[in-house]
Amino acid sequence: MAFSFSIEKTIPGRQGRTGEISTPHGAIKTPAFIPVGTKATVKSVLPDSVDGIGAQAVLANAYHLYLQPGPDVLDEAGGLSNFMNWDKPTFTDSGGFQVMSLGVGFKKVIDMGGDSLNSDDVIAEKRERLAHVDDDGVTFKSHLDGSMHRFTPEISMQVQHKIGADIMFAFDELTTLHNTRKYQERSLERTRLWALRCLDEHKRLTDERSAKPYQALFGVLQGAQYEDLRRKAARDLGAMQSSGIEFDGFGMGGALDKSMLGTIVGWMTEELPVNKPRHLLGIGEPADLFAGVENGADTFDCVAPTREARTSAVYAPTGRFNVSNGTYKRDYSPIDDDCTCYTCSNYSRAYLNHLFRAKEILGPTLATIHNLHFIVTLVDRMRSAINNGDFLEFKADFLGRYQSKSEV
Ligand SMILES: [Zn+2]
Repeated sequence: MAFSFSIEKTIPGRQGRTGEISTPHGAIKTPAFIPVGTKATVKSVLPDSVDGIGAQAVLANAYHLYLQPGPDVLDEAGGLSNFMNWDKPTFTDSGGFQVMSLGVGFKKVIDMGGDSLNSDDVIAEKRERLAHVDDDGVTFKSHLDGSMHRFTPEISMQVQHKIGADIMFAFDELTTLHNTRKYQERSLERTRLWALRCLDEHKRLTDERSAKPYQALFGVLQGAQYEDLRRKAARDLGAMQSSGIEFDGFGMGGALDKSMLGTIVGWMTEELPVNKPRHLLGIGEPADLFAGVENGADTFDCVAPTREARTSAVYAPTGRFNVSNGTYKRDYSPIDDDCTCYTCSNYSRAYLNHLFRAKEILGPTLATIHNLHFIVTLVDRMRSAINNGDFLEFKADFLGRYQSKSEV
């Protein structure tokens, strides 16, 4: 089998488990945090460093690579893994999130939470909307040069096959917590029909490109904060078959009310087939990772650890802090005394403070190495804790010390 998933151990009374995903570029022990390399690079760090951190895979972005340098370039280079000199597994997201969110302040709306706004047009209020969704696909404007493009389920599959990641995601429609219930229902049905089209095109491309390494396809579950919609999405895509194939795994995506994260993941994992891997898209804060793992998510990706590192926000067992603050100017201790990463083994807070204040490129590099190591290792420790039978104790101990409201 070119792609498979096996379960090792489960958390008693919970959906959470440890296991292993096998891909043509190697295995991923789960649960695992997957660093984001949006444009086929984890910003500011060498692939050797990403490997040294203990990362088992990276996730790149189909939308960005489609616009630049173009999927044909990656295809000719032998696929994403060859192109970026990363010989371990790779993921690409479908581009659905980016085509609908970039350039319109959409992400902000998603993150706002609550229900103070309740309109399907909310993102059109202040700015011209850069993406238009219809039943066949999405027409959008490039954030690079304003040129017009169109993604359909078929085009997303074609782009992702050319990029050549081991794990791809089906094209879905992104909604926000502020879309009306009626819109969420319509959107979920649209995403269901797109999932069928993704399976058909994926089968056609897999046959056509049979000399290439097998690429697995994950269906993406939406449904926002609604229990019945989340469960329906999981049941529909979990049992979906078309062109004689089914999804290899599932992505849990879309607008998620953070305070409900564990519960919402649980709704989906209770309905999904047990023996297939589940990826929680765009989640990377420690408390959210614990909630996701406990409720049965196997892999995670998020830009937060790398994005925050570039603004000098670093993770420590007691919470995040900003190493460029004046208080660290003469602090010759490492970011985290117990951390074994390259940065903490060799450099002080004072040195990082200096690098960031002097706007030296090495600052973001060293901070990214530490933050990725912190988050990757945290999820690795969750895996060990599940295998040792003490996940809930580890969770209580870690979150008891970690302040989610950081000083940053
Ligand atoms: Zn460190």
